Amino acid sequence: MTTAIYPGSFDPITNGHLDILKSGSEIFDKVIIAVSYNIEKKGFLSVEKRVELIKESIEDLKNVEVDSFEGLTVDYARKRGTHILLRGLRTSSDFEYELQLSQTNNYLSKDIKTVFLITKPEYNFISSSMVKEILSNKGDIEAFVPKPVYQYLKTNYDV
Ligand code: ADP
Repeated sequence: MTTAIYPGSFDPITNGHLDILKSGSEIFDKVIIAVSYNIEKKGFLSVEKRVELIKESIEDLKNVEVDSFEGLTVDYARKRGTHILLRGLRTSSDFEYELQLSQTNNYLSKDIKTVFLITKPEYNFISSSMVKEILSNKGDIEAFVPKPVYQYLKTNYDV
């Protein structure tokens, strides 16, 4: 059984993240989408809320587990008994960052492999930070995030 971990901030999860997750769930027997606690980044939503919204957004995906973790991704992967990480790529600027991250992870843990999936063109420009920026200016984010995320943000952030 092949399990992949899809780590990230998911603050909040977007339709772009979901696209990568769905494709990953067709390739691997199981995907664990894992929200990382990042001491460097002060979150917009709490990690617990992000996990809850992901769970509500993926009810149709049966081989996906939602979790959160603190510390290094490679340590979390080892704890979960896998050496495969899943990440999404949008633009060449993503590539520069992901290359560095993947090589660092591989240096930290020799058997770690990162699998990259390229997003569909219609999700290319979607990012959590863009969603937050639009939200803070009272713009419409409905097309960019899963329904449960939209409903939560609409109710709590007066969209
Ligand atoms: P991180 O803070 O670890 O970069 P993110 O939540 O921003 O976490 O992203 C997690 C993963 O999802 C990354 O691999 C990122 O490139 C990918 N990703 C983000 N937005 C999209 C999108 N619109 N389409 C495809 N992949 C995406």
